[in-house]
Amino acid sequence: MTKAHEFFDGKIKLPSPPAVAIKILDAVRHDNSSFNELADIIKVDPALSSQLLKIANSSLYGLPNRVDSLSQATALIGTQALKNIALSFVIIQGFQNSLQGSFDFELFWRRAITAAVAAEVLAASLNHKDPNIFVSGLLQDIGVLVLFLSDAASFTELLDKKRISGKSLCETEKEHFGFDHTEVGSQLLKAWNLPDTIIAPIRSHHQEEDGPYIESAAILCFADKISALYHGIESNRKAFEIHEELRNTHQFQDTQIDELIDQVGMKAREVMEHFQIQPGEMKPFSQIMQEANEELGRLNLSYQQIVFELKQAKQNAEQLAVDLKRANDSLRELAFRDELTGLYNHRYFQEIFEAELQKSKRYRHALSLLLLDIDHFKRVNDTYGHLVGDHVLKQVSQIMIKLVRHFDIVARYGGEEFAIVLPETGKVGANVLAQRVRRGIEQCQLNCVDHVFSITTSIGVASTDMAAVEVDRATLIDYSDQALYKAKQNGRNRVELFRLKTGSSPFH
Ligand code: GH3
Ligand code: MG
Ligand code: MG
Repeated sequence: MTKAHEFFDGKIKLPSPPAVAIKILDAVRHDNSSFNELADIIKVDPALSSQLLKIANSSLYGLPNRVDSLSQATALIGTQALKNIALSFVIIQGFQNSLQGSFDFELFWRRAITAAVAAEVLAASLNHKDPNIFVSGLLQDIGVLVLFLSDAASFTELLDKKRISGKSLCETEKEHFGFDHTEVGSQLLKAWNLPDTIIAPIRSHHQEEDGPYIESAAILCFADKISALYHGIESNRKAFEIHEELRNTHQFQDTQIDELIDQVGMKAREVMEHFQIQPGEMKPFSQIMQEANEELGRLNLSYQQIVFELKQAKQNAEQLAVDLKRANDSLRELAFRDELTGLYNHRYFQEIFEAELQKSKRYRHALSLLLLDIDHFKRVNDTYGHLVGDHVLKQVSQIMIKLVRHFDIVARYGGEEFAIVLPETGKVGANVLAQRVRRGIEQCQLNCVDHVFSITTSIGVASTDMAAVEVDRATLIDYSDQALYKAKQNGRNRVELFRLKTGSSPFH
């Protein structure tokens, strides 16, 4: 016994079909039952016979002339088909009248009828002879109804699970119950004594299974998708899927597929009316496609918009990064620069001088330091005023920048004193450069407000190659300072090199 069987035996609470349905079910089971037998069953229910005539006359069968009697209908669409319509009708009526609850029965039957019509239309266009295809299509998902009725809360929970996981209904049912609605549906129909010709395609409509009913099962599967197109969500995606499958499996043309789907929609509306099911919001296929295309257009548009906005955001971010870097650079510069002269300030001089000293040790290069002091600067201030003094400091700074090499570093050491770091330069080169700076400043005519004059400087030079051992930063600064002091003492406007006193060590 299968799990579905156990479930079905234990829990099924489906109402038994109405009396007339039992008789029709019985007649359906006997394929060879005659028209008379069917007529006998139906005539006790005048409403049923008039409904049957309406369906027989509907566009579903496309009969060339109106039929006014069941015998005429039978002659044209066959006893079997008529029996199946009668069966479908009583089953739908039976469920409609007796079942209430949170399950959307209207939607269920709308989907079932559309699937039944789609199965009928597809079978006709594929020239597939299965007189039961309509009823198989109609009842293919009856198992869903059974599962819902057995435990509404649990089934609702399962539907939520399906939506969240994105898995198929059958997969979710198998995980949840250990079997799916196709199994449960076929158990029910078996209990109703329906023939295997109806049940077998239903059992396999969600899986590929070889056997005599494979074609009918495939038609049911397509029919299910077409029905979902009209009553489900994601119609756009489903329409493309149906197109692709019908093109690949049956070499249908796109226009042929569209016509077929449209036809199903129209016929299903009509049949629903006869089965007294409201077609609800069933849009024509052409409208579904139009809306799908508009949606696609909107998606494309918003996609382009998103791409555009992303590009702009990226550009803005890049610009912001550039601005930020610039702002940071200028902040750094500000922190390193002396406000008056624009030269590096004392703090930065100490930093860069230390870095250059380390580099010179690592690469065994010489390094020199010039300390420069303006001669008698006090006099400039005293004679022309402090502002002129400031101006002189600026001009001297510019002259020095022009006179040094591009890799030399000029800093304002303090007041009217300047430091020039000369990387990769020994005492000889440093002396040459110091002389050049001294001369350059001396020769320069300073224009300050109304005054034209010149000034001189004294420069002290110290280099790492003056001492036999390595010297540190403070020592080298001290050596330069001593040399500068000597330049002042020796009459100013001159360059003096630091010289170790004979016999003395740099580490005294
Ligand atoms: P010496 O040749 O011995 O160096 O004589 P000096 O007058 O240059 O030396 P002293 O150190 O006595 O004077 C330096 C003067 O520089 C004193 C100070 O007012 C002036 N000074 C320092 N910083 C600034 C400044 O930023 N602007 C102006 N205008 N003057 C400054
Ligand atoms: Mg001074
Ligand atoms: Mg001075």
